[in-house]
Amino acid sequence: MAIIEISTLQKSFGSNEVLKNISFEVNKNEVVAVIGASGSGKSTMLRSIVHLEKVDGGSIQIDGQNLVKDGHYPKIKTIKEITAKTGMVFQHFNLFPHLSVKENLEIAPKLVKKTTKEELDKRSRDILQKVGLSDKLHAQPGSLSGGQKQRVAIARALMMDPDILLFDEPTSALDPEVTGEVLKVMRDLAEENMTMIVVTHEMGFAREVADRVVFMDGGEIIESGRPEEFFTNPQHARTKAFLSKNL
Ligand code: ADP
Ligand code: MG
Repeated sequence: MAIIEISTLQKSFGSNEVLKNISFEVNKNEVVAVIGASGSGKSTMLRSIVHLEKVDGGSIQIDGQNLVKDGHYPKIKTIKEITAKTGMVFQHFNLFPHLSVKENLEIAPKLVKKTTKEELDKRSRDILQKVGLSDKLHAQPGSLSGGQKQRVAIARALMMDPDILLFDEPTSALDPEVTGEVLKVMRDLAEENMTMIVVTHEMGFAREVADRVVFMDGGEIIESGRPEEFFTNPQHARTKAFLSKNL
């Protein structure tokens, strides 16, 4: 069953056509890795799904509801209801630097959900434990390593109990020695059947964890397939060229 359905998506910045006719679906419990060179439109596509960008044409359905249909958006209340099902993790963490880990985790659910202080406290402790950071509840982000910050960012996204998690190059800003701890958390989430779209340069992760790999180039999806087929037998010349540089 498709939980995200994207059809004929188009987006330009001025005269730069960044998304050209993008269509694809993500099924419930599926992990989709999106790969492609810098500038190919990967971030813009992800950001469109969480309404950080408005598209010019095409449709995005999340869990059967239209976030945008043929380029038209519903009222903001509806948009908020629909995007509440999604969580996003960014390359540069985007934590609030002046708030503790606990405050970073609790700020959004405190604002939008009817929960007690005690429930929130329990939830933030449980979720921090899940990402291996139980001892960092009262830490300030500035005292954490990049890998720890990114795990806090994942925990923060999980606090909202999303149906779909989107990751935009979550390990690209990290030192190689801490990349593994973040990928492990993502792998655990995949094993728990979280639905995920992961934009990544980690070809090993795409190969081992993703159910499907989507290759973007020049604002288009050039090729997609199951990882073993995609990596061992790419069909398109542009995919072959990309893989020869990045594997
Ligand atoms: P990727 O994530 O694959 O590197 P992006 O989606 O970030 O690609 O960018 C695709 C294209 O859109 C690039 O040419 C980029 O310069 C342009 N772009 C992205 N965001 C903006 C913006 N806010 N304003 C103008 N151009 C943008
Ligand atoms: Mg990007």
